[in-house]
Amino acid sequence: MPELPEVETIRRDLTKVILGKKITNIEVLHKAPVKDGVKKFQEALKDKVIKKIDRVGKLMMLELSSGNFLLVHLKMTGQLIYQNKKNLIAGGHSFSSFDITDLPNKYTWVIWSFSDGSKLYFNDMRKFGYLKIVDKKQKEKIVAKYGAEPLTKIFTLNKFLEILDKRNAPIKSVLLNQALIAGIGNIYADEVCFAAGVFPATKASSLDRAEKIKLFKAINSILKKAIKYKGTTFKNYLSAHGRKGNFADFLQVYGRDKEKCFRCVQGVIANKKIGGRSSRYCPVCQKVVG
Ligand SMILES: [Zn+2]
Repeated sequence: MPELPEVETIRRDLTKVILGKKITNIEVLHKAPVKDGVKKFQEALKDKVIKKIDRVGKLMMLELSSGNFLLVHLKMTGQLIYQNKKNLIAGGHSFSSFDITDLPNKYTWVIWSFSDGSKLYFNDMRKFGYLKIVDKKQKEKIVAKYGAEPLTKIFTLNKFLEILDKRNAPIKSVLLNQALIAGIGNIYADEVCFAAGVFPATKASSLDRAEKIKLFKAINSILKKAIKYKGTTFKNYLSAHGRKGNFADFLQVYGRDKEKCFRCVQGVIANKKIGGRSSRYCPVCQKVVG
């Protein structure tokens, strides 16, 4: 699932190539992700110029010349692929060569064409992602529902301590709660807990101050590093196109079920459902409680 680093990566990449471009055509191959009704959606986008791309948590917000916004949520398996004669820029869910060699593919639901002939494809295998047009007021209302955004001035240690205060939910569930902290999903929540040496099922309120500080530092350093490496993708689309680096190479617990822990070299990475989500941890490095 694309999380904060993956969505931020595609936001930055798309900003470089689609700002100032006019949308000349909107093709909807499947209406599932379009939340406004196809005709209304097409009318809201036709002949509009993309002014800016913002992000809150895992939600991307494209500002249009009409003053409205196109919201793009990739959810579990959403992808955005931009294609012009020279470039292919892709982001979101992990890619295989199949996804990009022959566009549109069988999971392409929406295609935007720009006045310079370039195209943007929205693909989504499982169809949980969505596209929605909102005005400024609606957008602000949606943004207000999100919690503190990591790597911004708002996300201070005090703010983080305040978020954890009196929460009896497992720390993993608190990290995943978008209304408390925006942008962390299953991959980075597991990695953050491991880096801090905290068992993900530990009640947030029972953590001591030192553990909370470790978690706070881990959130910032891991998300920063993941953005630097353009997120975590499990297939090698990016490297296949000459792009270096991938945060998948740095994962300590996520995707490493039953493998030896890199840190203590004796623990075997375990997988347990916590708050309804699969959670990976090292039973040696992360003191199992409860
Ligand atoms: Zn370990």
